[in-house]
Amino acid sequence: MAKRIADCGMVTERLSAFLDGDLDAAECGRIARHAKTCPRCTQLTAELRRTVGLCQRAAKTPLPPELRRRARASIRRLLEKDPQTR
Ligand SMILES: [Zn+2]
Repeated sequence: MAKRIADCGMVTERLSAFLDGDLDAAECGRIARHAKTCPRCTQLTAELRRTVGLCQRAAKTPLPPELRRRARASIRRLLEKDPQTR
């Protein structure tokens, strides 16, 4: 489903922006909406919620480097399991 893949790409891209402290509430909403329809992104966002408090902390606050590093590793790990969006 082409649209779903595009949305998955959007989520991955926005999650990366989030790690840089550059994600606003509207974008967070888009991610959450997509994740509801997509098991892969549900897993991805659940992991980040646990590790870095995705969408719970102020979006404009950059994450501490250590958390950022761990979150990026989590994203990478999950993406490697599902090469569809690369
Ligand atoms: Zn997805």
